[in-house]
Amino acid sequence: MRTVDSQWRRHVNGKPMKALVKKQATPGIWLDDVPEPKIGINDVLIRVDRTGICGTDLHIYKWDAWAQKTIPVPMVVGHEFVGEIVEVGSNVSDFETGDIVSGEGHVVCGRCRNCMAGRRHLCADTKGIGVNRPGAFAEYLALPMTNVWHHASGIDLDIASIFDPFGNAVHTALSFPLLGEDVLITGAGPIGIMAAAIAKHAGARFVVITDVNDYRLELARKLGATRVVNVAQDGDLRSVQKELGMSEGFDVGLEMSGNGAAFASMIDNMAHGGKIAILGIPPGDMSIDWNKVIFNMLTLKGIYGREMYETWYKMTVMLQSGLDIKPVITHRYHYSEFEKGFEVMKNGMSGKVILNWRS
Ligand code: NAD
Ligand code: ZN
Repeated sequence: MRTVDSQWRRHVNGKPMKALVKKQATPGIWLDDVPEPKIGINDVLIRVDRTGICGTDLHIYKWDAWAQKTIPVPMVVGHEFVGEIVEVGSNVSDFETGDIVSGEGHVVCGRCRNCMAGRRHLCADTKGIGVNRPGAFAEYLALPMTNVWHHASGIDLDIASIFDPFGNAVHTALSFPLLGEDVLITGAGPIGIMAAAIAKHAGARFVVITDVNDYRLELARKLGATRVVNVAQDGDLRSVQKELGMSEGFDVGLEMSGNGAAFASMIDNMAHGGKIAILGIPPGDMSIDWNKVIFNMLTLKGIYGREMYETWYKMTVMLQSGLDIKPVITHRYHYSEFEKGFEVMKNGMSGKVILNWRS
C-alpha cells in the first residue's frame, strides 16, 4: 500500500511524539513532546528505530560559538538514524511502508549549478536535518524522498543507524586510491576509527592512526589499524615510519581530528606528491606551512558530508564484502537516557553511541 489515509489523518491531527529538542539558547538538550511531523507530497514519514549521537549534537548540547550562530531554537536535533517508512506522500513511487531506511542528512536545493549537474554533495545551499530543519532524535521524521536511502536486506540495524558518519569516513578514505599505499590518519574519533577499517579493507599496506586518547586508539587497533600512536606520549611519526620500514613518508593522509598540531605533523610526514583529504573541522584559523605543500607537491582536498549517493552505495557493498565496523559502537541507551550518552561522549571514553527509540 502506497499511502495510509488513516495514518495521514492521524498526523494532520498533530498527535504528540517524544523528541530531543534544543529548546532554548543555553547549554543542554531536553526530552519533550512535540507534534508529529506532517509530510508533503514528495516526502516520506519514517518511524525512527535507532539514532547515533554525532559530535555535532554535542556542539549543540554544549551551545558553543558554532551552535549559537547556526541553530535556531527550538529545534529537534539529530541526523544519524535508521527507521521504517510508515507513510509516503502522493508523489512518492519508489518507497513503500515497511521499507527500512536511513537518510542523507543534507537536503540540497536541486537548482544550483552543482545540483543541476548531478553533483549534489557540492550544493551551494545545503540544509542540514537536526541543524537547519527538524531532526531525527524523535519518534517520527519527515524527509524528502530524494534524501532516503533504502537499506539492502541484511544490513545490521546498529550499523544502518550510523551510515551518516560511516559515510563521512568512506567519502574521505576513498578520496584517493589506497591500494598498496601507506595511510596516516590523524584523530581516532569514531570517524577516524572507521576510516582505518575502510583503508585496510580497500587494500592499504600500512594504516597508522594518531590520537591522544588510549581508549580510542585501542578501538582503532581492534578495527585493523597497523599501528596506533598516542602523540601525547610519543609524537615522533618519523620513528614509526622507520619501525615499519617506510622511508619516504605517507602516500595518503586522512585528517580527522580538526587539530592544528595533528595537521602540521601530517604535512611533515607525507611523501612527495602525497594526497591529503581533510574532514576534521578546526575550531578556528589553522596555520599551515605552505612551503611544504608547494615544494613537496602535496594535494589537499576538503571533504564535507557524503557523495549522493555513490558513498552510500560504497558503504553497502563494502559491508557486503566483509568490512566490519561494528566494534566502533561502544554504548547503547534508551532515548530517555540520552544524558548518559552525551556524558560518555563528552569524556571521550566512547566510540559511537546509539540511542534506541523503540524498546
Ligand atoms: P571526534 O571529536 O570524536 O574525534 C576527533 C579525535 O581527534 C578525538 O578522538 C581527539 O582525541 C583527537 N585528537 C585531538 N587532538 C589530537 C592530536 N593532536 N592528534 C591526533 N588526534 C587528536 O570527532 P569525529 O566524530 O570522529 O569526527 C572527526 C572530525 O571530523 C571532527 O573534527 C568533526 O568535527 C569532523 N566532521 C566533519 C564532517 C564534514 O562533513 N567535514 C562531518 C562529520 C565530522
Ligand atoms: Zn544545490
